[in-house]
Amino acid sequence: MSDCIFCKLANHEIEPDVVYENDLVCAFRDAAPVAPVHVLCVPKAHVSGVNDLDPANADLLTALFEAAQTVVKKLDIAEEGYRLVINSGDRGGQSVGHLHLHVLGGRDMTWPPG
Ligand code: 5GP
Repeated sequence: MSDCIFCKLANHEIEPDVVYENDLVCAFRDAAPVAPVHVLCVPKAHVSGVNDLDPANADLLTALFEAAQTVVKKLDIAEEGYRLVINSGDRGGQSVGHLHLHVLGGRDMTWPPG
């Protein structure tokens, strides 16, 4: 999508702070981190969010979680623990309409989330 900021970042039209990347996913640091580790795993293809996923996106979803797994190992938080978050829609707190998996770590997480 031409006007989507995450399409531009994941495909290097705008250069992100990349932590990990493969053919399907770009994982880059959040511009406004809410934890010492805050990385967004973003598919290079445009999918608006969880509501728009279907079985044809199975490879993309696998790649998204593989990217998260690589990120936590690379940033050395795999063993201490971390949180993966996908916000969906207005009440879920989604502010960017392009599917993304937040990787949060480097501090204790609280429950329930706000
Ligand atoms: P959401 O609220 O949709 O779950 O998450 C969107 C995230 O994208 C937010 O944490 C926000 O800080 C981040 N974000 C928004 N615009 C940009 C940007 O231009 N660059 C980067 N790196 N992160 C962004």
